[in-house]
Amino acid sequence: MAARGASAKYDCAVIGGGHNGLVCATLLARGGRSVVVLEANRGLGGAAATREFAPGFRVSACAHLLHLMPAALQRELRLDEHGFIAAATQMPTTALVADGAALARGAGDVGGADAAAYARYDAPMRCLAAALAPMLSRVPPRLGTHRWSDLVPLLQLGWRVRRLGTRDMRELLRIVGMNVYDLLEENFESVELKGALGLDAVLGTNFGPRSPGTVLTLLHRLAGQSTVGAAGLSQPKGGMGGLCDALARAAGAAGVVIRTSAPVARIEVDRDRASGVLLEDGERIAARTVISSADPRTTFLRLLGTGHLDAGFARRVANFRSRGLAAKLHLALDRAPDFTGLKPERAVGRLLIAPSLRYIEQAYNHAKYGEYSRAPVMEITVPSINDAGLAPAGRHVLSAVVQYAPYSLQGGWEQERARFADLAIDTLARYAPGLRGTIIASELLSPLDIEREFHITGGHWHHGDLAFDQFWMVRPVPGAAQYRTPLDGLFLCGAGCHPGGGVIGAAGRNAAHQVLHEAA
Ligand SMILES: Cc1cc2nc3c(=O)[nH]c(=O)nc-3n(C[C@H](O)[C@H](O)[C@H](O)COP(=O)(O)OP(=O)(O)OC[C@H]3O[C@@H](n4cnc5c(N)ncnc54)[C@H](O)[C@@H]3O)c2cc1C
Repeated sequence: MAARGASAKYDCAVIGGGHNGLVCATLLARGGRSVVVLEANRGLGGAAATREFAPGFRVSACAHLLHLMPAALQRELRLDEHGFIAAATQMPTTALVADGAALARGAGDVGGADAAAYARYDAPMRCLAAALAPMLSRVPPRLGTHRWSDLVPLLQLGWRVRRLGTRDMRELLRIVGMNVYDLLEENFESVELKGALGLDAVLGTNFGPRSPGTVLTLLHRLAGQSTVGAAGLSQPKGGMGGLCDALARAAGAAGVVIRTSAPVARIEVDRDRASGVLLEDGERIAARTVISSADPRTTFLRLLGTGHLDAGFARRVANFRSRGLAAKLHLALDRAPDFTGLKPERAVGRLLIAPSLRYIEQAYNHAKYGEYSRAPVMEITVPSINDAGLAPAGRHVLSAVVQYAPYSLQGGWEQERARFADLAIDTLARYAPGLRGTIIASELLSPLDIEREFHITGGHWHHGDLAFDQFWMVRPVPGAAQYRTPLDGLFLCGAGCHPGGGVIGAAGRNAAHQVLHEAA
């Protein structure tokens, strides 16, 4: 493309108007910077957008449950003033069981022999997660420096772990590297309960319950959940796009210029420093600082180019694992689905198809070889029950994450998409027998579709696996783990950074702090 010359100059250009890009831009503007957000798509929100997939039927495109964004960040952004409304809070989780029973899951819900075991398991897990939670909203420290800004967070973490007391500290050290399969086997009898609890450790990841490190991913999720306050698991009004609309209004109120349909083709470099971006249509936008919420492989390999990176760093980025395994199924229904044995007051919540740890592990086994299981794992909501505006009067939408759907599917997604969608519907129909007859329209987004529509390499939930070697101080890769990158003036702010994916906003917030701190 031919460059058309500079049209404008800003202090900061943020690539991507997903929720992290919007959070980052708002905080930079409030810090006194002139900021432009450049979003490739026509709409904002990225993987946290709402889409109309059939006339009159709207649904959250990828993320459908808000359960990780800290209450303190929502207050800091004044989201209520900017029109954020929750259609439902404190949503219950229920494990669907094939014989028609539905197993309530959550504090106070579990009965029988597992009630006492649940209390024994849940309280210490929440305590450990709460000790780790402050890590999520801080820039990860660098190893090997003597700067207080790097030493203090390490000391604080050590102190919080020490304060757990000898028993919990020992337990944390014992379990943190374990797999969730063994942890749950140690604690519970109920096969269904173990399946439901195990799913939280692997949803959105490239793991099965027997994979090492799945207790860490579970603690990470619980740590995020411990910061959300009274809302618990919630559903934004208007779908997840409702949250991003409020974020966009907060950004606008802070003075951020937002441009959609503005795909960035290249990050520009002048004298070894980022100097702005070039849009695909040839427009050049000058900026002293460029902050990218695009995934790390897109940012470094496609937008910057390896010519500006040393070979070792470029290799680490190329090896950043980012093949997604989660697909999304959307159904337009002419009436609310009738799940056998599910009490109406629980239909408003989160429903799981993960009837045992073995079931989840077997579904994962197929994915390792580029296949999908005939029995996928699912996380389901019927958002129109809480928010009638998502569907025409009396009708409903169903939103389901379907896992494990490997990005590199044998046979290819063009061939297999319809078959996989059918399989997912058959799986649902085992729990809601009349479902098929009520379907008006359907849509399946495979990881490949998610990659294409939302510009996320591999269509990965977290922009890249959340595993020990891609975690915290080494996320996404050593040399870029504090949001700054080897190129002066270029920062990251998306899910590929600490603390990873999910609608949290912490990567955007931490990155803004880092940019403001560096310039101070
Ligand atoms: C199927 C699925 C279900 C999920 N469910 C949940 C859930 O229920 N709850 C939850 O908390 N999380 C969920 N997640 C995870 C969550 O959606 C993501 O981790 C999160 O939305 C990532 O936000 P982000 O702002 O970092 O990045 P993104 O949302 O990916 O935003 C990045 C933006 O950058 C834009 N962009 C990329 N390249 C360019 C370019 N060259 N020029 C301009 N713009 C560009 C993209 O278009 C995009 O808008 C789910 C994810 C998936 C895939």
